[in-house]
Amino acid sequence: MHDVQHWPDLDPHNLYFLPVGGTGEIGMNLNLYAFGGQFLLVDLGVMFGDETTPGVEVITPDIRALEAIKDRIVGLVLTHAHEDHLGALQYLWPKLRCPVYATSFTARVAQRKIANLNDKDKKALKLNRVQAGQAIEIGLFRVEWLHLTHSIPEPNGLVIDVADQRVFHTGDWKLDPSPVVGDSYDAARLEEIAAEGVDWVVCDSTNATSPGWSGSESEAAKALAQVLAGHEGRLAVSCFASNVARVKSLGLLAEQLGRRVSVLGRSMHEMIQAAKIEGYLAGFPNLVPASDLGYLPRSEQLILCTGSQGEPRAALSKLASDTHPDLHLEAGDTVVFSSKQIPGNERPIARMRNQFAVAGIQVIEGESNGIHVSGHPCVEELKWMYQTLMPTHVIPVHGEGRHLKANANIARECGSHAVEIRNGDLVNLSTAQTVGKVFTGRLGLTGNSLIPTTGAVLKDRNKLKYHGSVMATLVLDQKGGLLAPPAARVVGLVDKSQEASVVSEIVQRLAGALDALGPLSRQDDAAVQSAAEEAVRRYCWRQLNQRPVAQIMVARI
Ligand SMILES: [Zn+2]
Ligand SMILES: [Zn+2]
Repeated sequence: MHDVQHWPDLDPHNLYFLPVGGTGEIGMNLNLYAFGGQFLLVDLGVMFGDETTPGVEVITPDIRALEAIKDRIVGLVLTHAHEDHLGALQYLWPKLRCPVYATSFTARVAQRKIANLNDKDKKALKLNRVQAGQAIEIGLFRVEWLHLTHSIPEPNGLVIDVADQRVFHTGDWKLDPSPVVGDSYDAARLEEIAAEGVDWVVCDSTNATSPGWSGSESEAAKALAQVLAGHEGRLAVSCFASNVARVKSLGLLAEQLGRRVSVLGRSMHEMIQAAKIEGYLAGFPNLVPASDLGYLPRSEQLILCTGSQGEPRAALSKLASDTHPDLHLEAGDTVVFSSKQIPGNERPIARMRNQFAVAGIQVIEGESNGIHVSGHPCVEELKWMYQTLMPTHVIPVHGEGRHLKANANIARECGSHAVEIRNGDLVNLSTAQTVGKVFTGRLGLTGNSLIPTTGAVLKDRNKLKYHGSVMATLVLDQKGGLLAPPAARVVGLVDKSQEASVVSEIVQRLAGALDALGPLSRQDDAAVQSAAEEAVRRYCWRQLNQRPVAQIMVARI
């Protein structure tokens, strides 16, 4: 294996950029700037596992290369409070141990992650609160927080000045003139930094393949007012828990419609609580506990719930399968998706829709009727940003291959030079050259340990998942004679009714394989094991046309 901690030589007089996660994928954002022997990190996010990572729900960037330079990391800057930007704090910070910087709302959400650290780490972690508009020195880096708009309170771009280079690192953003929660984006400051000159823009690519504009949260609120009017039964509305603006719009609408609001889903409760403390939910109605919904007429209920992507343990899935402890939806009720379908989640969403349909519950989708707007810049917004800042160079990040490519093309159309890179590509920003590779990858959380997602554990799990297993034990004397008949067990291989005969065939093959070995090999555990495995495999393939995982234990007495 090549050295995961290897770094190309860095010229201390040049500024470098390296995406460690999030470039070539949506999720687990982690970016790094290097200058003068110092390193500055931007964001530390997670992504979520899928059917290829059984038993692994949370995935973080693989930071083994960063561990080699950890003593020279001067700070970690968080752009905003989404999981794909700060969700890995509790898992990876203990390996980095650098000061963390964030604005107030983001810091409040980060604080909940930090609460999961052990007492020693909690004490050691210095969480510095900054304000949008503020510029501070972090080591050799001057970092200014610039307020943008997105789908969560306090999204910030970063103006990073170091050496003679100015970088605008956008974070996640859109142009929302009327974002419902918080101020609009700081266009005046963007124009100012444009006038001063911008060398590099490192930019969100999520919606670079979507034409037009993303649309404003206040437009989504207007569309919701139309869609939610005139229903008799309960209204259950699902949206992303962190979209505080949408939650606020729905709360205010509920009051107008004469409905009381209840919230199902822990993550939404937590976000609402954080937003209230930070002053983002003034005028939001008091919530009805879910357990009290039964006392209200159906026409007076509006239920906000998590789980728009069909996550099996979230509220909406439970409502669809009618297993929610506090609420039973019935014919005449309406379910509203104020969200979009994230690619990959089509099947679980379709399952919920079928369940609702069978129960006579109407479903209203958010894709086409304006009741959802995206939080990321579409083509016209990207053009606006590049035409406003007129950067010499653009690096597309935060996207899969097609998003990065589309964003690069938009930048070129606007007259910038686009540098197309992936996780692990180290760019010298002072010379505008990609100068080498740094090891990157993914770590999956299983139990309380982080394991490489390309490693043996997940390979074995996937094999077991698809092929089942055969386990056998051979108890031998020192010379290799059987002291008891071989014992075997099959798991996930054949139907119960066939198991006994398959096991007895396997036992015979094991005895036969042992007989076929010479006297010396019979004294060698490894030789016995491999002959036995081979016999099991050959039988399963030839007789059953299957390739189970074969595990043979040899005990010698
Ligand atoms: Zn993001
Ligand atoms: Zn975001």
